[in-house]
This record gives sequence, structure tokens and C-alpha cells, in this order.
Amino acid sequence: MGSDLYPVVALFGAPGAGKGTQSALLVERLKFKHFSVGDLLRAEVAKGSSIGDLASSYMNQGKFVPDYVVNDVVKAYFLENKEDKVILDGFPRTVGQAKELRTLLKLFPQIRFCAIQIDLSPSEIKERIKSRFMCAGCQTIYSKEDFKSQFVCSKCNSNEVTVRKDDAEEVVQTRIDEYQTNVSDLLDFYKSGGILSVVDGSGSAESVYKKISSVVDGALGFSLGRS
Ligand code: ADP
Repeated sequence: MGSDLYPVVALFGAPGAGKGTQSALLVERLKFKHFSVGDLLRAEVAKGSSIGDLASSYMNQGKFVPDYVVNDVVKAYFLENKEDKVILDGFPRTVGQAKELRTLLKLFPQIRFCAIQIDLSPSEIKERIKSRFMCAGCQTIYSKEDFKSQFVCSKCNSNEVTVRKDDAEEVVQTRIDEYQTNVSDLLDFYKSGGILSVVDGSGSAESVYKKISSVVDGALGFSLGRS
């Protein structure tokens, strides 16, 4: 890879499809930076900022935060991080956001961009979310499947667990509906640009990672190199 080229990979998929898990693997193994709009908005909510106050009313109901809020947050991020390999986790989610991203990327000719959808059936999505919980200490997401006995967080050693507020059943349904309502237009937008790959999200995290990393290598036209 030429030292002045920077891959930006937009990962999208329904809630529970595995965006967060795959982002963590790409960060650990290929040294990407992880940019999750959801994490950033949750941090704003925790701070009690004006963006956080605005966003929380949408997030608590499982609705998308308006494009103008999210687009501003993403723009600010790119202006600060223009020389990095970046995973965009959960952005774009609407055609309005995809258009904004296209405009933004034009400002940075050193960036090579591809979009990957992690595809998972609605029934698998619901099963995964049901078994999802969070470390109360550092908010890392885990699955009940991975802990048959006592929970110990691999990042902060906490034993305390909690669940994401918006993982409640009725809120999850709204999140899935929001995704389904917007995804076909988003896929059409990227299909016409020839930069979209769809990866089957069922199976182990490791098997999905293999597919995603090979798409990333192939779609960006150069080897990212393994660390
Ligand atoms: P998930 O993808 O599992 O729903 P995230 O943590 O990525 O979880 O997002 C949580 C919430 O943050 C979403 O339900 C939505 O309210 C808000 N959000 C995140 N990304 C976006 C986005 N690109 N556009 C609008 N709202 C967003």
C-alpha cells in the first residue's frame, strides 16, 4: 500500500448483525480506527451536551437521530482524522448520510472507500440481541453464549453486567424497522456506485471476519498487510 493512501470502510447492517464485533477485530488485527456514531452519541448523552440531549430522545425510542446532527458529527471526525484507516460503524444509514459522505470523501483524494453490508435474517438478529449484555464497567458488548460461568470482562476485569437501554424488546423492534425502511435505498445508492459488497453475517465471528477482511483487501485494490 502506498503510504499516502487511507482506506475507509463503511460497515452497515441491522442492529445485532455484528458491526461492533467485526469492527473490534479490524481494529485489533488491521489497526483500523473505529468510528461508531452510536458510541459517540452515547458519549454525548453521558456528558449531557446539547447534541446528547437531542440525540437521546431518538435513541431511547430506537429511532434514527436526524441526518443533520449525525452528518455534522461525522464531518468533524473526518476533519480531525484524515490520515487514518477508518471503520465507519453504522454510518451511513440513510441516503442523505451517504450523499454527505460522498461529498466529504471528495475532499480527501488520499482516501480509498468501500461499503460492506453484514446481512443477517430478522430471526437471527432477534436471537443475538436477546443474548447480548454489556460490561457495566467499560460498556464492552458480550454474548451470553460466551459465558457459561462467572462473567469477567476481558478489558477491565469488572464482574458487573448490565444491558443496553435500547436493547429492550420493543425498542429493538423499532431499531430493526428503521434499518429495514432505509436499507434498500442505501444499497441501491452503493450498488450503482459499484463499491458495495454484501457479506453473510451468520456463522462465527471468525468466519465472518475472514470474509470481511478479504473484501477489504480486494475492494481497496491493495493489500492492507497483517500485523
Ligand atoms: P445498532 O446499530 O446496534 O442499533 P448503534 O450503537 O450503532 O447500535 O446505534 C445506536 C443508536 O444510535 C441508533 O439506534 C440510533 O438512534 C443512533 N445512531 C447511530 N448511528 C446513527 C446514524 N448513522 N444515523 C442516525 N442515528 C444513528
